[in-house]
Amino acid sequence: MATTDYDIVIAGGGMTGSLLALALAQISSAADSYRIALIEAIPLKTSHPAFDGRALALADGTVTSLQQLGVWDVLKNLAHPIKKIHVSEKGHAARVHISSDEYALDALGHVLELAPAGFAIQSKLVGYKQIDFLCPDKVEDLALEEDLIRVRLSGEKTISTRLLISAEGVTSALRSKLSLPIEKHDFKQNALITTIYVDKPTRDQAWERFTPEGPIALLPLGKDCFSLVWCHHPELSNSLMSLPPNDFLQQLQQSFGFHAGRFVRHTERAIYPLSLQYLPQSIYHRVVLLGNAAHQLHPVAGQGFNLAMRDIMALQDVLGNADDPGAYSVLRNYRESRKLDQATTIGFTSALASLFTEQYSSLLLPRQIGLMLMNNIPFLKRQFVKQALGHF
Ligand SMILES: Cc1cc2nc3c(=O)[nH]c(=O)nc-3n(C[C@H](O)[C@H](O)[C@H](O)COP(=O)(O)OP(=O)(O)OC[C@H]3O[C@@H](n4cnc5c(N)ncnc54)[C@H](O)[C@@H]3O)c2cc1C
Repeated sequence: MATTDYDIVIAGGGMTGSLLALALAQISSAADSYRIALIEAIPLKTSHPAFDGRALALADGTVTSLQQLGVWDVLKNLAHPIKKIHVSEKGHAARVHISSDEYALDALGHVLELAPAGFAIQSKLVGYKQIDFLCPDKVEDLALEEDLIRVRLSGEKTISTRLLISAEGVTSALRSKLSLPIEKHDFKQNALITTIYVDKPTRDQAWERFTPEGPIALLPLGKDCFSLVWCHHPELSNSLMSLPPNDFLQQLQQSFGFHAGRFVRHTERAIYPLSLQYLPQSIYHRVVLLGNAAHQLHPVAGQGFNLAMRDIMALQDVLGNADDPGAYSVLRNYRESRKLDQATTIGFTSALASLFTEQYSSLLLPRQIGLMLMNNIPFLKRQFVKQALGHF
């Protein structure tokens, strides 16, 4: 086998790339572990596109994986538990209540603030001598050979590797360079996010409320504040962005109601355009695409990063027994092991997004029946909760 500078090069040090580097660094003993380069374009300073004002709902299964990677000890103090979830539709009676007690769990999941999480994860990365963290640097180009890939970095340096992983996010340059076909669906919606303070305790409860304008999610971030994800048509979200703070709070209160208390103030607002993008084939010759580079989902069910985490753990598993980490048989095993979960999660999230956004008025009755059945038939509810918790 040809000699290479690295066994594995990861392009992109957001949540997916950084956690993947930690997962792969733990595969074997220090003596024969993989030599890994993690390349990130933007240094972590006060603001970073991958570690911004968003808060992620981490499913219970994701928390277990983070514990296995030894990173939960630095993340748990930045995370808030979700013990109850309340799902409802504005103006209609049917609702679903889910409680951690019903499933004998301490929590259904946790809400993690991305900005401080970035620093905490990077503090773990420096502890591994088999990881070279090259930042700021960028993967500019690649040349494929039979046994290796040559990767040209922005500083004109070229490194060789057996396996190249793109965790570059939704605009992955490697995906474009390889001309990999991608499935796209524009939801014609934006997500508006901010932190909302309320006048009563959150009681560790998350809220998902569907309205004719789009879904509203409130995720508990602390004793008296929630992370808000409010999805609507881009025109409406642009006008909400420009409202003075009190008018914005009033609009939100009108749409959401008073179930979670009175909204008293909020932090800076930001918007994200929403689309479904996924690669039918997330492997190529000595290349794997992971995280948002492979699948970007609607945030309605909070599944995007949770799916990426399951991909990371599966890749750790198959690479654990590999002589050549870029060999086709190894990458094929990874792809086969992830097919069902990826298809189910993408299908589940898109169906939910479509049911509660694009076909809102035409599907009112089936939706109400669905919510009612789910709350009253334990089997249906368990299947839904299993998917949402990331238990496979
Ligand atoms: C509003 C909103 C709410 C969400 N809520 C949830 C939730 O509750 N639960 C959940 O599971 N998911 C949620 N998601 C999805 C989640 O945010 C993403 O799945 C996750 O952050 C993707 O991380 P990533 O590392 O794959 O990509 P990114 O965060 O985009 O990171 C990519 C990184 O690669 C770097 N990069 C790019 N190109 C190069 C290059 N050529 N060379 C080197 N570096 C490069 C970038 O600088 C960046 O740091 C939400 C998404 C949105 C928009």
